[in-house]
Amino acid sequence: MLDFAAQTAALAAAGPLPLVVGGLAAAGLASLVPPPPAGLREPVSVSLEGGKAPLNTHGVGRGGKFPPFQGKVLAIERMGGRDAERDVSRIVIETGGVLFHEGQSFGVVPPSQPCILGNAACRTARIPFSQQGTKINSKGQEVPETVRLYSIASSRYGDRHDGKTCTLCVVRVVWRDEEGKVHRGVCSNYLCDLKVGDTIQMTGPSGTAMLLPDDHMQRRIVCVATGTGIAPFRAFWRRLFCDQVPGHPHGYQGRFWLLAGFANPDSELFTEELRTIQAANPDRFRLDVALSLTQTNKRGGPEYVQDRIEESGEEFLALLASDDALFYFCGLKRMYTSVMEVVERLGAERGIDTKALITKLKKEHRWHVETA
Ligand SMILES: Cc1cc2nc3c(=O)[nH]c(=O)nc-3n(C[C@H](O)[C@H](O)[C@H](O)COP(=O)(O)OP(=O)(O)OC[C@H]3O[C@@H](n4cnc5c(N)ncnc54)[C@H](O)[C@@H]3O)c2cc1C
Repeated sequence: MLDFAAQTAALAAAGPLPLVVGGLAAAGLASLVPPPPAGLREPVSVSLEGGKAPLNTHGVGRGGKFPPFQGKVLAIERMGGRDAERDVSRIVIETGGVLFHEGQSFGVVPPSQPCILGNAACRTARIPFSQQGTKINSKGQEVPETVRLYSIASSRYGDRHDGKTCTLCVVRVVWRDEEGKVHRGVCSNYLCDLKVGDTIQMTGPSGTAMLLPDDHMQRRIVCVATGTGIAPFRAFWRRLFCDQVPGHPHGYQGRFWLLAGFANPDSELFTEELRTIQAANPDRFRLDVALSLTQTNKRGGPEYVQDRIEESGEEFLALLASDDALFYFCGLKRMYTSVMEVVERLGAERGIDTKALITKLKKEHRWHVETA
């Protein structure tokens, strides 16, 4: 799927690209990606600090101030190795400077339904809502088509540090029904099959559940992810460790702990980038990766992120009881359920009421969950 020559040309035209530390480099684009500086933080060419997170500046129907904007694919690459469990693509998109904050998502208008929910073209053409396309939902019901949301996997400055791009991390949805017929998710397949130079219609930014508070540069941050649930956390770590954020000359002063779950080593996402940041920031960046198909937990079962939390139970509980730590969870709902079970058990073993601690954390806007 990688149009190597075209991608190389586009990257070269885009100027020097401190795009990623791993990933593209692994794909042979290392010559275009300067080696990361010791501290990893790169100057940004514009200040996007101050103010609240923008919300739905671009949308469909009555949902946005402006109609969807056009995103242009600058780079697209399949992530992971040959034995990856899922087909995941990283897509770097030129946004023309549409503002967003870390933790938000962009919507993508599915290709076959350019008129979903009455976007500008539909409004002009007066196409009724009922004729704008439908889809079958998980309950087998026919419902109106909608934009699909994708977590933004770059900081507000984008991977080129100029505020003009965003990165998405998309898993190709494919499943087989009871009769063995293969079905493909409309939007994820569309995105994973894009080529450099293609344009897409986008909405957003949306979401306030995963935002960082104003004083995040000083806070301890715990992020727990499975699979592409890591995407919003890449936005976090790019901001904290890769951008020279205006107004923060000394950079991030807190501690960042990422617990990520994947199936096997080939399914890991952003591995090289993570290891490089970890090596450059040993006191501030902690990474725990659980690989469910290739690692076993102490009971001999598959190793999941909740097992990693259990192994560091004292530290996790101390953060839970602290006055400053922020918690973020993104990925599978069952991961979150299992983490909650482990945390409750860890607390019960030590006579700590973790439910009360989590209630307090929620009240203080320090507990953030985005699961599906
Ligand atoms: C806030 C938010 C952030 C998100 N971020 C990301 C992200 O960063 N990366 C990412 O890849 N995705 C992300 N998603 C999911 C994304 O929005 C889409 O839902 C996903 O890409 C599927 O869209 P699709 O058009 O490909 O599939 P569709 O054509 O919409 O098909 C999906 C539907 O197919 C059916 N289906 C799927 N699998 C099966 C199965 N095994 N058996 C039976 N039926 C099935 C279900 O009815 C499901 O609703 C996010 C979702 C939300 C809400």
